[in-house]
Amino acid sequence: SMTSNSISRSRIDAVLAAERTLFEQRNPRSRALAEKASRHLPGGVPLHWMKDWGTPFPLSVASAKGAEVTDADGHVLADFCLGDTGAMFGHSPEPVVAAIREAAGHGLTAMMPSTFAAEVGDLLADIFGLDFFQMTQTASDANRAVIRWARAITRRPRLMVFEGCYHGQVDDAFVTIKDGKTAIRPGLLGQVTGITTTSVSVPFNDLDAVEAELKKGDIALVLTEPALTNTAMVLPKPGFLDGLAKLCKAHGTLLGIDETHTISTARGGYAKTHGLKPDFLVVGKPIAGGLPAAVFGFTAEVEAAMRAVDAERPAGYSGIGTTLAGNMLALAAMRATLAEVMTEDAYQHMIDLAETLAAALRHVIASRALPWTVTQMGARAEIVFSPEPLADGRAAYASIDHDLEKAIHLFLLNRDVLVTPFHNMTLVSPATTEGHVLRLGSAFADAIDTLIA
Ligand code: PMP
Repeated sequence: SMTSNSISRSRIDAVLAAERTLFEQRNPRSRALAEKASRHLPGGVPLHWMKDWGTPFPLSVASAKGAEVTDADGHVLADFCLGDTGAMFGHSPEPVVAAIREAAGHGLTAMMPSTFAAEVGDLLADIFGLDFFQMTQTASDANRAVIRWARAITRRPRLMVFEGCYHGQVDDAFVTIKDGKTAIRPGLLGQVTGITTTSVSVPFNDLDAVEAELKKGDIALVLTEPALTNTAMVLPKPGFLDGLAKLCKAHGTLLGIDETHTISTARGGYAKTHGLKPDFLVVGKPIAGGLPAAVFGFTAEVEAAMRAVDAERPAGYSGIGTTLAGNMLALAAMRATLAEVMTEDAYQHMIDLAETLAAALRHVIASRALPWTVTQMGARAEIVFSPEPLADGRAAYASIDHDLEKAIHLFLLNRDVLVTPFHNMTLVSPATTEGHVLRLGSAFADAIDTLIA
């Protein structure tokens, strides 16, 4: 067998330096815009983490359509980031654009259900296979609502999540494992509450660890993605999720499945496809075609329990909900997305092409004898810096190499290919073509050859 190739720190540093210079040369207009924006937006960005792309200054988008982003300097980029899943069905899908145009002149928000509400409810039930739904504006909001409802229903305090998870801007989920114990995640800003007493982090794919905590009888909710997609990519071992659902049932704990990323699996998401029956389901990001909106679904039993706790509580704020949630514009965009964009045909194209993409990446990796793997979940594929598939969050953390990642990403960006920052994730949309995939494959091969040289 071939020995593994390795990439030296000095090569990574050299490639990073060369690619930074090239980026600066290629993007004078983005640089000028960033400088201008910096007058009142720190770092020149509307949200601080937009600085984390690893570019010397933020790249400005002039327009985006389908699977392509045109930047301020006129480069047309093949977009495999797709707004980190917000644009998974392509930028500005025609039916969504038409729905927004049609709705825009007739009121955007009224804090009342629009005439589309019933149809959206029917579509959600049909696609995701759950009885009831509520809307929020972000997946973060939906996860927070699910956590609060679960605590209210079970009258239990604790939340269980998995090491390496990410569920959005959700205080309760920002825990990890340190020296065998649940700890607050490093890097959190302004954290004051003692979340480690009400949240527990356990290793993914470890049913014994799950059971040991559930046995204590005070866990309201287990919240997880079907696969960890935010710290490299960790797939569930056969039987893990079914075992998890069984254990939850046995111990009176509710199960919440966050499908915000795994909606890439198939129409209806991972849980529906694999016959997993959670109590709650969360989907955000692309559910309204890129307009801010998210949903959480739940079973008829959960809905009955919600009514019961709601009837018993004294008057006052429930702590669940935001004013613009389920607004008229969002409902119109969601209806169009669910009915006309999120189709079986769209998924067929996305998944077939993601297979081609994953095969192309695997070929580059194998032919250069690199100790890496490619993990795929439907329309999503991730390059993992590990020779074996990752078993849990700890293994995922250990595999991460941010400098190497940044060097590859910047190299690709300078060849008109955009991939998600923070990790090596690629997403295929209904508008992505074989040409885009070929461009990614050959730019990735060139990046690797430059790094190995
Ligand atoms: N859940 C998962 C699984 C996510 O990956 C993310 C975002 N990456 C969120 C929730 C939060 O989504 P948002 O930032 O849109 O609230």
